Amino acid sequence: MISHRGEFVHPLCNALTVRLSGTMPKPWARMQETTVFIYRIVLSQTEWQKASEARHAAGDLWTRLVKIHRFCRRRHWHWPTETQLKAHFKRRIPLHSQTVQALIEKFCATIDGVRTKRQNGDKHARYPWRFRRYFNPIFKGQALKIQGAHLFLPLGRGRDPIRVRLPEAIPTGRMVLAELGYGEIYLTITREMPDPITIPSDKAGGLDIGVIHLGMISDGKEALAVSGRGLRSVKQGRAKALAELQKKRRRTKPGSRRRKRLNRAQHRVSQKVERVTRNALHHAANQIVAFCLAYGITLLYVGDLGTLNHKKRHRRSRRTNQDVGALEFGRWETYLAYKLKRYGIRLVKISEAYTSQTCPHCGHLNKVAGRTYRCRACHYQAHRDGVGAVNILNKGMHGAIRPGELLVPPRITYRRPVPLKRTLRRSPAEPREIAGGINGGKSGGSLPGSHDPRRNHGGFPRISAL
Ligand SMILES: [Zn+2]
Repeated sequence: MISHRGEFVHPLCNALTVRLSGTMPKPWARMQETTVFIYRIVLSQTEWQKASEARHAAGDLWTRLVKIHRFCRRRHWHWPTETQLKAHFKRRIPLHSQTVQALIEKFCATIDGVRTKRQNGDKHARYPWRFRRYFNPIFKGQALKIQGAHLFLPLGRGRDPIRVRLPEAIPTGRMVLAELGYGEIYLTITREMPDPITIPSDKAGGLDIGVIHLGMISDGKEALAVSGRGLRSVKQGRAKALAELQKKRRRTKPGSRRRKRLNRAQHRVSQKVERVTRNALHHAANQIVAFCLAYGITLLYVGDLGTLNHKKRHRRSRRTNQDVGALEFGRWETYLAYKLKRYGIRLVKISEAYTSQTCPHCGHLNKVAGRTYRCRACHYQAHRDGVGAVNILNKGMHGAIRPGELLVPPRITYRRPVPLKRTLRRSPAEPREIAGGINGGKSGGSLPGSHDPRRNHGGFPRISAL
């Protein structure tokens, strides 16, 4: 799926890579967890052919849905309902009937989502408009068949199913959905969750989510900052690499071998960055959870980013906007929420208004520039994101920020989400440095992966793209 910024974003990864059915339908029912697992697949030439055709047919269907919807909308007609669309496309698409239905359902869900967003005042929300040559066909669980090490994706009566070799270790649970991507398969698996392990304490923590630091968490005594710089540079690198490829691509003829090779290269870059991002966000979330467990936090206040993405858009610089969008905070939050839920830690969203500006010491409002917070009234100095974290905690506990109650801990541990890998490191011989807190504190400790947050370890993944 192409996002409104024209980036390649997989539709499932972007929104629901991990989701929880939050409400328990029956009191005796256990909590269920639905996870999407992504595997790279290798297909033989014939299977690849079939997969390609199925993805093409799905793209065709999607394009026709977009056209129908656009046609009706421009004329102010009633939009066809899901039932009408299903009846219309029945037996007209060379795909399994349930695949066709699933795609129509997905299209209708997208439209409903956009409509709700627009009604809520987000004028930038756009109805599906792009014509798709390929689209990922969706296979519903009832139609999926597993035989030995193979998964069979049905293509409807009279057509051979696509045979995909499954990876050796597949998580236990019920396979409810499979989606066929470009050399990848997305398996949605539901499983029952054990009851969350609850910690007998009622300690609270504050979490500030940002770009430089994906998360700064504090309980008022200790603080942990999970760096986001590496991730940001990967994302920026992707934009650069894709732009370069696009430039080369423009000079090629459609259908030419060179064009095809460049298309594949584009996919490779996107998919690689997607994997790196997903991995980093999972690890970052794990570190936040580990901090909560280590210090017995059972209630975590987090600044609500819901308002940040749309309404404040015009107030931010273009660069900041790119950061905010590109890092996909929604996804990061989703990962956090489900991982915390496993340990019975409650995540409470509170408005983050003024939490970054208010002085935790005297309550004065300061404009913040740079990475250090400096109060003009009382000359208090602290790490900027640390101020955000303790203020969120303060606000969460007291309803408003009470000055002087909670100060930024002198000791801040800095960590990368994942220790740098060769692909991300500028030079392999670069020594790891140990950071110090800004408030004069000497710390960071000798934790593995500790580093100086101010050092720019930029560069982008070296992906040889022709
Ligand atoms: Zn102050």
